[in-house]
Amino acid sequence: MFSPPLAGGPSDRRRRWITLRGWVLGLGLPRALTVLTAGIWLAALCITFLVQFALQRGSLALGMTIASLCVLTIAPAAGYAVLKLLYELESSRQQIRQLAITDELTGSYNRRYFMEVAEVELLRARRYGVPMSLILIDADHFKRVNDTHGHQCGDALLRQIALACRDSLRGTDVIARLGGEELIVLLPQTGLAGALTMAERIRERVAQLAIQWREQKVEATVSLGVAALRADTPTLDALIHEADIALYDAKRSGRNRVCSWNADRPWLAGAQGT
Ligand code: GH3
Ligand code: MG
Ligand code: MG
Repeated sequence: MFSPPLAGGPSDRRRRWITLRGWVLGLGLPRALTVLTAGIWLAALCITFLVQFALQRGSLALGMTIASLCVLTIAPAAGYAVLKLLYELESSRQQIRQLAITDELTGSYNRRYFMEVAEVELLRARRYGVPMSLILIDADHFKRVNDTHGHQCGDALLRQIALACRDSLRGTDVIARLGGEELIVLLPQTGLAGALTMAERIRERVAQLAIQWREQKVEATVSLGVAALRADTPTLDALIHEADIALYDAKRSGRNRVCSWNADRPWLAGAQGT
């Protein structure tokens, strides 16, 4: 039986019973439905009886008319309340789902959702033989931003970086916060060349970014690692690892640049940018 536990103390519980929602939750759906049906039926019977008694008439036609009128007035009111509950429930469900897949700080997707989507996309890419790429993005010298301007400024800058990245992408690309000051982008149906172009666009866009923080201009740059799916890429984790190695390359070769994974010589992955 659907009967969720009632949270809170005794006064909380009393208050919940006063509302229709509290009443339905307290009884459980099947019992609430039975009580509601019985209530409407009883009300219809009582009103029919009272009207017939008051008019001193007991014809079948009058009884049926009164009963019909009762049902037609009480049922929409009760139905409206129940349907309203359903809509509220659906809207809460959607809100919870949105919260469960969203990163609170940046508004991008979170890591868990990204991994789910990327696994499905990887299967699709393999099955239909279409390309797929990943871009790992890490904010440069972000600790310095926090140390110089404070954590709140770091948060604001991170939000703007994520926004700039999102604005550079296509509707089918998926961006998520992997953790800390690191973002990841999934580019379905995109090979290495396309992914490098996209990464370069993100790099340029973030490099033009500046936020105003307590009368100071705070700028940002990012380093990006790109990896494209190959026939011999074993897993999604392996692809992310390749992008991570490329990212490390971008950091090592000066930051604010894009590097791609090179299967033959990962330590010499191609570098662009400035
Ligand atoms: P690098 O260019 O090598 O990436 O340098 P970095 O300073 O960005 O890297 P490091 O790993 O040394 O430090 C990461 C910093 O990012 C430290 C951490 O406080 C900051 N950071 C991580 N997550 C958040 C966050 O959500 N908000 C803020 N404000 N800072 C964060
Ligand atoms: Mg960093
Ligand atoms: Mg980092």
